[in-house]
Amino acid sequence: MSNNDKPEAAAGDLLQFAEDTAGEQKPQPAAAFASDAPPWRILIVDDDKDVHKATEYTLQGVAILDRPLQFLHAYSSAEAIGLLMRETNIAVILLDVVMESENAGLAAVDVIRGELGLTNPRIVLRTGQPGYAPEIETIRRYDINDYKTKNELTRVKLYTTLTAAIRSYDQLCRLEAGRRGLEHIIAASNQFISETGVREFSSGVIRQIAAFIGVEPEGLVCAQSEEGDKPEDCVVIAATGQFSLFNGKKLLEIGDRRIMDTLLQCFSKKKNLIEEKDIALFFPGRNAHNFAAFINSRQPPRDVDQRLLEVFCANVSICGDNVNLVEQLRQLAYYDILLKLPNRSYFVEAVDQRMASMKNRAHLTVALLDVDQFSEISDVFGHRYGDQLLFAIARRLESHFSEKCLLARISNDTFGIFGESSLVSPEAFAPFFNASYEIEDVERPITMTAGLVKVDWNDDSNGSTLLKDAFIAVKHAKENGQGQYAWYSPEIATATRERTRLLQDLRFAFTQDRLYVVYQPLIDLATGKAVAVEALMRWRAVDGRLISPENFIPIAEHSGLIIMLGAWILRMALNALRRLHEAGHRDFRMAVNVSTNQFRQAGFLSMIDKALEEYAIPPQLLELEITESIAAMGFNYVEETLSALRQRSISVAIDDFGTGYSSLSYLNRLPANRLKIDRSFITAISDGSSESSIPEMIVQLGHQLNMKVIAEGVETEQQRALLQGMGCDEIQGFLYARPMPLEDLLAWLKLNS
Ligand code: C2E
Ligand code: MG
Ligand code: MG
Repeated sequence: MSNNDKPEAAAGDLLQFAEDTAGEQKPQPAAAFASDAPPWRILIVDDDKDVHKATEYTLQGVAILDRPLQFLHAYSSAEAIGLLMRETNIAVILLDVVMESENAGLAAVDVIRGELGLTNPRIVLRTGQPGYAPEIETIRRYDINDYKTKNELTRVKLYTTLTAAIRSYDQLCRLEAGRRGLEHIIAASNQFISETGVREFSSGVIRQIAAFIGVEPEGLVCAQSEEGDKPEDCVVIAATGQFSLFNGKKLLEIGDRRIMDTLLQCFSKKKNLIEEKDIALFFPGRNAHNFAAFINSRQPPRDVDQRLLEVFCANVSICGDNVNLVEQLRQLAYYDILLKLPNRSYFVEAVDQRMASMKNRAHLTVALLDVDQFSEISDVFGHRYGDQLLFAIARRLESHFSEKCLLARISNDTFGIFGESSLVSPEAFAPFFNASYEIEDVERPITMTAGLVKVDWNDDSNGSTLLKDAFIAVKHAKENGQGQYAWYSPEIATATRERTRLLQDLRFAFTQDRLYVVYQPLIDLATGKAVAVEALMRWRAVDGRLISPENFIPIAEHSGLIIMLGAWILRMALNALRRLHEAGHRDFRMAVNVSTNQFRQAGFLSMIDKALEEYAIPPQLLELEITESIAAMGFNYVEETLSALRQRSISVAIDDFGTGYSSLSYLNRLPANRLKIDRSFITAISDGSSESSIPEMIVQLGHQLNMKVIAEGVETEQQRALLQGMGCDEIQGFLYARPMPLEDLLAWLKLNS
């Protein structure tokens, strides 16, 4: 029987495959195509080995629709069925009709389509003789793609038959993917509708997208809480796989430019982006609460129908609205994820609501607690450390206040507390003014400053004005040092406003060159000759008023502007000293005031080195005046910097001596060259008060510690005589000269030396 089927199945006949008929479409060589395209899998089923060989030989190196061919072999219908149960993605089955039985091929088709449910593979029946052709009815019933007698299968015919079959297989696959996609969308919608939480919803989105486009579910979803939110401010509302860590963080914190850029484009173009390895999908939300998903696909996504993907995204967006995404985003907008506390917006609204619902506000207080030196701590120990510290403080505050008061994170290192005045008070905060927290197994002392405002002082007040007032109180408290508190009052508000205005004016004056320097001589009491000058800053306002350094220097110090001003006056002073040298005053010293802020600046020493070099001034002619308040920085640091100055032969004077810390043990260890007795003691020198003896004590103390002593603010001849009698070394004061511009000083020196 099967032999009857075989007369033309001889290798000789099949070799005709190689003979092409002129004019027919020529097979393409595979080499011309991308080698990584997956092959079309062709299953040859025939009980004649030669047919297998000849078919494969004939199609050797041929590509169809840009993809190479791969052959699988079965020698009976049973073997073919077994193989089809194991293998996937078989595009075409070249199936012999007569094998183990006369209808073995047709029976196999029945199993393939029916039992195995394989509807996509195309089947090309081959028989040896036309007489064995199945009836039309059979072809229809079994969904057979083509029917050929074996001698019809020349190389070119085989190629065109396969091309047609493969094309229709490919279309069937695409249709199926589309259908699966639609089914997926419907299934996803069902899942999303039952999700209530925004996080479950969003991680569902990642999983569904990944399944939809056939990649790993690695990615994140982030949301804009408001229109125009910068993408880096977007919050990651769900993250899976390697991104899990970023759940709840701001996009910026991920620190991955690629992800940020992709999402940025996605948000700004409001459309999906499908790159080779990154996929970002855009989901328009209600009320501009748009969100986007980033999928780290690692491999190019499966060929996805763009339109289907859009349908998918639109559907997800609708589901997003259904799960109250907007509501939840609002929640996120009210919550500080890092510290797990309500945020400023929540605080303000809660205060407003509480105030609206209460007739008597007299017993309510809004307070702010601000961590002192927080940015310095973060700079030194790192941001992670800073976060841990804030977290520890938040937990402790929570255990003290959250039960009966509202506790929130208002800004970076500032907490807001709102509640009954009996609970929100300086007394209640006392444990926080000076406390210690264990971070990374080390106890760290932390001070906090509080600003408080009574809710009843002004009926127009609301949550945000109260916060503003509390901030003013904090600022005011900080002016007096750390770990303290202040109550808000309209007076301190006025003072703060004035200071703010003054600071703005000062900045402007500096940029407009309205600041200048005057010089006041210091006289050696032994010779009566000027030996040094002190550089003092002056500011003439636009209206011509002279603003006292006593008023603007503290503001410059507080704002940090003093760093710039200090560097500027040093260069001005050294430049003046150069001029003095050129005028013949070769051994003149130049004294320059240095504030604590400048002193602690990292680049302080190098700034001085550079200036000395630029003006070619010998370091021993520069004297820096520091005040005792420098002690607050801690002895070790100060000693180190002072030693570094000493090494350079720069001299140091302790200014306003007697008014500050005046810890004798401290003074003993400070490597300074001179002490400047504060003017207030000089004023009191001859009034017989208990203070009148202080200058003499300071002179003796200074000499014992090997320091020279200078008296400042000497206005009368009597004061001069007394100081000389005490053995004071130098004096400075109106008695000799007022501070004056360089040109006047040069003229003065001509007359007085
Ligand atoms: P200071 O460093 O103790 O400067 C001495 C102050 O006493 C100067 O006030 C000077 O004009 C004043 N003075 C000198 N002799 C007499 C006198 O006989 N009678 C009276 N009544 N006053 C006299 P000025 O220039 O107003 O400066 C005040 C303070 O401002 C300075 O005190 C200093 O602490 C600060 N300051 C001035 N310029 C600078 C600067 O460039 N940098 C820094 N950090 N502080 C500066
Ligand atoms: Mg001074
Ligand atoms: Mg002074």
